[in-house]
Amino acid sequence: MRKRIELLFLGTAGGRTATFRLVRRSGGFLIRVGETLAHIDPGPGAFVYLKELGIDYRNVDLIVLSHIHLDHSADVNTLIEACTDGGKRKGLTLMCPESAVEGKDRVVLPYLIRRLKEVFFLKEGGVFTCGDLKVEVVSKHTHHGVETYGLSFNGRVVYMTCGKYEERFLEEYPDKPELLIVNTTFYRRKDNIDHLSVEEIREFLKVKRPKKTVITHFSLEMIEKDPSKIARELSEELGLEVIPAEEGMVLELN
Ligand SMILES: [Zn+2]
Ligand SMILES: [Zn+2]
Repeated sequence: MRKRIELLFLGTAGGRTATFRLVRRSGGFLIRVGETLAHIDPGPGAFVYLKELGIDYRNVDLIVLSHIHLDHSADVNTLIEACTDGGKRKGLTLMCPESAVEGKDRVVLPYLIRRLKEVFFLKEGGVFTCGDLKVEVVSKHTHHGVETYGLSFNGRVVYMTCGKYEERFLEEYPDKPELLIVNTTFYRRKDNIDHLSVEEIREFLKVKRPKKTVITHFSLEMIEKDPSKIARELSEELGLEVIPAEEGMVLELN
């Protein structure tokens, strides 16, 4: 049976400047599929924002990190503690690149790993299940030398996380997804920075034609250019529904 999907966006900032000057909130997004609730990329502030939004940490079943950068992972340890109720609640799963748990740049504290029910390491071609939620790795991104994955949730919601835009995305990402969430950090393409831009996403959307697209993860450049205006222009130009993420925004897919 097709399960209802709900999304909640905690924040919209991306990259270092907008996130760490707290120009806007970050903190990632929540996705609920059927009975399963997951928090994707819990950046800085996520712990506080969830409380503000009245979400009980103990209802979270899964945390997913697309990569280790702090704008995606800063609150992961706090949330492992909160979601497991200090280790009393069993049943929290983590999905992340191996680099988040092993190696010199790991971001998940070793002593918290034993609080988790399961840890799945994302890898190319991987498909992972947690309750009603199915996470598929659709692409490995090039992103400043850090292991980074674009993901699909139940084949319906596609999350194009940070990374350099590459032509192969047109092959790897599915056509006409119900919802595309895309980390559109810059307006203009920047050759030396591995982040997506409006210039590149415009070409991607033209070919892939998602039913609905949410742009998010905005740099200062994007915020100054006004994401609402950019989304409106993309919608009109491409004949597609493109909207900017907003703090606390809820979306439902039936
Ligand atoms: Zn990053
Ligand atoms: Zn990022």
